Amino acid sequence: MAVFDKTGTLTHGRFAVTEVHPAEGLAESELLVLAAAAERYSTHPIAQSLREAAAPSAEALSVTDVTDLPGRGLSAVVDGQTLLVGNARLMQEENIACPSCSGIGTVVYLARGGVCLGWVLISDQIKPEAKTTLAQLGQAGVVRTVMLTGDRAETAHQVGAALGVSTVVAELLPADKVAQVEKLLNEKPRNSTLLFVGDGVNDAPVLARADLGVAMGAMGSDAAIEAADVVLMDDNLSRLPLAIRHARRVMAIVRQNIFFALAVKFITLALAALGYAGMWWAIFADVGVMVLAVLNAMRALRVPKN
Ligand code: ADP
Ligand code: MG
Repeated sequence: MAVFDKTGTLTHGRFAVTEVHPAEGLAESELLVLAAAAERYSTHPIAQSLREAAAPSAEALSVTDVTDLPGRGLSAVVDGQTLLVGNARLMQEENIACPSCSGIGTVVYLARGGVCLGWVLISDQIKPEAKTTLAQLGQAGVVRTVMLTGDRAETAHQVGAALGVSTVVAELLPADKVAQVEKLLNEKPRNSTLLFVGDGVNDAPVLARADLGVAMGAMGSDAAIEAADVVLMDDNLSRLPLAIRHARRVMAIVRQNIFFALAVKFITLALAALGYAGMWWAIFADVGVMVLAVLNAMRALRVPKN
């Protein structure tokens, strides 16, 4: 079973601002400047895109008391006023009425003093290799693919459908992602492996909990690289089926060698007990088996290119 995080793993995690909807009395540029200032110290891919979209005047505002609200957004004091930036769930939790919005992508709301100042629609792109990778994983014997995300359901289902993911679970907080993986670990058949692929932004605990955690090396956080078993240095998902095929080949060679070496030793023991094994046979059973096993093992040095 393969479980994927969405943002930064199946998608680039490089958002572009596509729509800006300020509340009445506010200019588009003002909304962007406030949002970008609040996000000044955040490492989330969403924060980066807001900073890029805003005018440089955002740099002039003072930003203090930043509180990260994982899976929802953040709060920060910008020029003495507390701003909330985040998704619909955050606004609901704070009892802030927000206009409902349509459109493809992730919605980021901005609120000040319990009043919604508007929203920004940003969209991300699916990595070009994501679809073929999922198909190849299916061919490699991965029976089920799951996508976990903190993003809203519409966007998540759109991405899931485009990629052919079997199960999509959206609107998850970081702790919910761990709970989901625990549930999947209980559901999976014995002797099967749960693979989790993530970028470590809000999912490092899951990387550690999965049977096999795979982190994005370039986009991913240090925590992800630390918690993961495998790191894809160039964030290229197509390496994944390759790694699985290579690992299977190596394991097959290891099994062949163990079986071959033990079989020859047992045959030799039996022959010796019956008085049939001579000196040459003994040399073959020892040195000969070693040489053949090493030659067989050397096949594992050849790594397929794709
Ligand atoms: P994913 O599971 O897709 O990787 P995250 O768990 O990192 O996403 O975030 C879930 C949601 O929380 C995002 O889709 C976004 O709406 C909101 N969010 C998280 N961090 C921020 C932030 N710094 N600024 C604005 N919104 C945020
Ligand atoms: Mg993420």
